[in-house]
Amino acid sequence: MKKWECTICGYIHEGDTPPDECPVCGADSSAFVEVVEEAPEKTASAEIVPESAPDPPKTTLIARATDLILKFHLHPISVHTPNGVIPMIFIFLLIAGLLGAPSFGHAAFYSLIFVLLNMPFVLYTGYITWQNKYKGAMTSVFKIKIGASLVSTGLLCILIIWRYSQPEILETGGLSAILFTLLGLVLLGTVGIAGHLGGKLVFGKD
Ligand SMILES: [Zn+2]
Repeated sequence: MKKWECTICGYIHEGDTPPDECPVCGADSSAFVEVVEEAPEKTASAEIVPESAPDPPKTTLIARATDLILKFHLHPISVHTPNGVIPMIFIFLLIAGLLGAPSFGHAAFYSLIFVLLNMPFVLYTGYITWQNKYKGAMTSVFKIKIGASLVSTGLLCILIIWRYSQPEILETGGLSAILFTLLGLVLLGTVGIAGHLGGKLVFGKD
């Protein structure tokens, strides 16, 4: 049976033809190349090829930052802030609304600001990883992931501005408190989608 490798994400498909769509990154069949098992003699001949000179050290600040982001996996590290703090924010919103507890409303508000302040770093490291590791491919998976990240950032801004202009919104209850909490739930969903697709890209199909 033939093997096909996705040139965007590295997923290996076994079959006579490449799949219509990569199950990991969503690239279409044209992104697949057949994997040709190297013959042993080819490996031996490769050994006598002189090693190419190492890459000269990167000098520009952006190039060095890019190296650092990729080498230390700073995007998967940075996404722990939204993915870790937003579930907690949602629980705080529920407690503030259900129990009329202002301290939880304050905690949610400051946590929203904390996450928003982290978002430039999350988005920038994501952009660099996408451009360098996945060739900036605009497949369905990356479209959804980028869309979910931008919607999340927009929702953070809306929730912060809303709570700032109406500090008692949760404790007073009513329709606006329910809408505010629902928006928090949507935010939980959008960061969940972006995180799930990121996990799929890192860990593969299953
Ligand atoms: Zn792929």
